[in-house]
Amino acid sequence: MGFSANCVPPHAWLANPEQRATEVHYNGIHLCWQRGKDTITQFSGHLIEQFADVADGFIVWYADPGLCICEQCVPYTPVMLDIKQTYEAIAGDRAQVHHCPWWIWHFEDGTHEPLPVTPNIRRDFLSSLPAGDWVPLYDQDPKSIDIARELVLEVLSFAFFLDPEGGNEAHNVLPRTRFGRIEEAVTGARERDLGLLAYRLTPYTQMAQDWLFFRRQLYPGISREQALEQLARFIGVGEQLVEALNLLDQWWEGRGIEALRSAAEIIRPMVAERPEYMTHLAAALEVLLMLAEVGSVNGWQVTDELVAKVQEYMEQTSTFTAFTHEQLWDMARARPFIRQRLEWWMGVLAAEMGGR
Ligand SMILES: [Zn+2]
Repeated sequence: MGFSANCVPPHAWLANPEQRATEVHYNGIHLCWQRGKDTITQFSGHLIEQFADVADGFIVWYADPGLCICEQCVPYTPVMLDIKQTYEAIAGDRAQVHHCPWWIWHFEDGTHEPLPVTPNIRRDFLSSLPAGDWVPLYDQDPKSIDIARELVLEVLSFAFFLDPEGGNEAHNVLPRTRFGRIEEAVTGARERDLGLLAYRLTPYTQMAQDWLFFRRQLYPGISREQALEQLARFIGVGEQLVEALNLLDQWWEGRGIEALRSAAEIIRPMVAERPEYMTHLAAALEVLLMLAEVGSVNGWQVTDELVAKVQEYMEQTSTFTAFTHEQLWDMARARPFIRQRLEWWMGVLAAEMGGR
C-alpha cells in the first residue's frame, strides 16, 4: 500500500495554514513535515494502523507528490530520514515499510527549479536502507541505480514510459495503445534484470495496455496476440476485440483513419455485452475518433463544431459525468472548459501523428 509521505485531506490543509507545505507541482494536499508532522501522522499513522496486519507492506513516496521546499526542509536529507524512521516505528514489526525516493536526483543535481541542491543526498538516503531491501528508482537516473546496487539494494525500475500525467490528461483519457513501446520496455528491463512498475489513473480506458504490460512480465514467452486473446476471454467478448485493439494500435502507428473507424465499429456493440468493461473504453474511443476525424484533415486544429459535438456526447455518457458535471449546468462555462481540454488532447495527437 503506497502513500505520499506528507499528504493530508484538504480539510486538514485548510485548517492548518501555518503547517502548509511550500509545494512544488501539487497544491492543497500536503503539509510541511517539519511544521506539520503531528497532523500528517494522524492520517498516515491511521492508515498504517488499519492495514498493517493485512497489507503486504507499505511504500512511502518522497517528493512529487508532497515535496516541501520551505527553509526548514533544507537540506532535505534529515527530513527524509526522519520520515523514514517515523513510519517504520509506527509499523513496527507488523509490516515492512519500503521507500520510493524516485525524485532524489533532482535534489542532488539541481535539475529542477526551484529545488535547492542537497549534496550527497543519494548516498545518504540510500545507505539508510537495509541491504536486500528493494527500492523504486527513476529509470533514467543511472547514478542512483549504481549507488543502490553498490549498497546491495534491489532496484525496481520506476519507468515513466506510459507517461500517465505528462502535462495533460490526454495520455490517460485517450485510449493510447503503445503496444510496441510496452514490449520494448519489458524486453529491455528483462535484459537488464530489472522489474518494471507502473501506475495508472484511468484503468478502464487503458486496460488493454495494462493487460499486455503485466502479461508480458509474468509470461515472457507470450505473444501480443496470445495476451490480447486472453484479455478477450477474460472480459467475455469475442476475439474480434483483438482485431479492434490491433486496428487501434495501427492507427496510433500511423495507419489511416479507416483503421480507427473500424476499431470503433467493432467495439461499439461490445458495450451491451459487457458494459462493466467496455463502456469507458468505447466512450474514450468515440472521443478519440471525433478528434481524429477533424484533426487528420485540418492539421490537428480544434473547431467550434468539434467542441459542440464532444460536449453533447459527454453530456450523454456516464464516463464523462464526473469530468464535466460541475461545468455542464452552464453552457457558457462548459464549452470553454471542454475546448481547453480538447486543445490539449489535440496537441498530443498532433505531436504523435502530425509528422505522418
Ligand atoms: Zn517544509
